[in-house]
Amino acid sequence: MRYRSLGVKTLRSAPQEAESINAQLLLRGGFVRQEMAGVYSWLPLGLRVLRKVEAIVREEMDALGAQEVLMPALQSKEAWVTTGRWDTVDILFKLPSQTGKEYALGCSHEEVVTPLVQSYVQSYKDLPTSVYQIQTKFRDELRAKSGILRGREFIMKDMYSFHRTQEDLDAFYARAIDAYLRVYSRCGVQARVVEASGGVFSDKFSHEFQVLTDAGEDLILTSPSWKYGQNQEVATLKEGDACPDHAGETLEWKKGIEVGNIFQLGTRFSDAFGMTYAAEDGTKQPVIMGCYGIGVSRLVGAIVEASHDARGIIWPAAVAPYRVHLVTLRGKTPETQAQIQKAAQGLHDTLTAKGIDVLWDDRDEASPGEKLADADLIGIPTRVLFSEKSLAEGSAEVKRRNLVEAELVKFEDLLEKMGL
Ligand code: ATP
Ligand code: MG
Repeated sequence: MRYRSLGVKTLRSAPQEAESINAQLLLRGGFVRQEMAGVYSWLPLGLRVLRKVEAIVREEMDALGAQEVLMPALQSKEAWVTTGRWDTVDILFKLPSQTGKEYALGCSHEEVVTPLVQSYVQSYKDLPTSVYQIQTKFRDELRAKSGILRGREFIMKDMYSFHRTQEDLDAFYARAIDAYLRVYSRCGVQARVVEASGGVFSDKFSHEFQVLTDAGEDLILTSPSWKYGQNQEVATLKEGDACPDHAGETLEWKKGIEVGNIFQLGTRFSDAFGMTYAAEDGTKQPVIMGCYGIGVSRLVGAIVEASHDARGIIWPAAVAPYRVHLVTLRGKTPETQAQIQKAAQGLHDTLTAKGIDVLWDDRDEASPGEKLADADLIGIPTRVLFSEKSLAEGSAEVKRRNLVEAELVKFEDLLEKMGL
């Protein structure tokens, strides 16, 4: 991809309203544009990151055996009245229609998925089953100020599972925890499994997945090497207590970003809709449910919060918008200019043929300094620079975004030294 085709320009400084690091860097790098508080457009670079995160989420949910669906954002008021949530969920956007009817704009999908799955589950033979979607959610958040971490419109993966027994739900729930941890580690961030309250959706414990960074809104009691923790709202341990898992470590409060949350719903929603199945003995039994959310767009923001430096974002390779940032500097003569173009084109074509995506900054008008600053800001893992100077050595300059030093690498060694 040629840089100029992106049509996006980086900004030297972040707009004033961008208080958080993720908003500053994503806005400056041209990944997103803020349309209004808590509402963002995803621009070409940002959308590539979002799509890569989505693909990882999709693979892991598919591996759990869940089926992907896409449910409507526009939901019937009657379903929300049926569950008793029309008047109790404060962040629910309610939409009047010119027909006099009212609708809900989906902040979650229990009210849609329960009747949907109810329509094809009749007997014990139809269970267990699970569906998920990756979709836009709407929430009337009072304060939307942490960039894409808290939007009024955002992308969520939500999965719902349906079971005959508590044991069956427990087993699926445990597999979901493992799948979630794989999602986060594949996205290049470490998330901890944290006990939290059930919130508005259930009165049991829920499990959150928290990425520890100072940008987080939540307070988590955990220790340096513990993979678990307790949210402040339910903590039974206290600061200074010995870590239950690691001798010699004590618990401390850390800030975290909630990038996922899973709940056991029990029969809360199946009861509301009268969703039952015929058991082997012919009796009607209630269906037991679980729900599993990942804040997909928030996760992109959490990655930025966890992985950046003063110059810009440092994308983990698996979610980087491109794997290689190719930079060509202008040659002083038509001959050297042609040589630089030819060498860069050769590398570009080789990488592309191998399925490695390349962003090529071929701008004439930008100075070398601007090009390098933009490469740092955009944060692609490997930068390869062709200049008159490197060409004189039969080389290109390779620099990893997470390292300080650049290295001159002979053309023939380039592929090997790029760490792809
Ligand atoms: P929070 O406590 O942060 O308000 P929540 O517990 O209400 O979130 P859930 O209903 O559990 O959120 O939604 C599942 C996931 O969706 C959350 O774990 C989070 O990652 C993400 N999410 C929730 N609200 C937002 C939002 N306003 N903007 C972006 N992502 C969100
Ligand atoms: Mg939550």
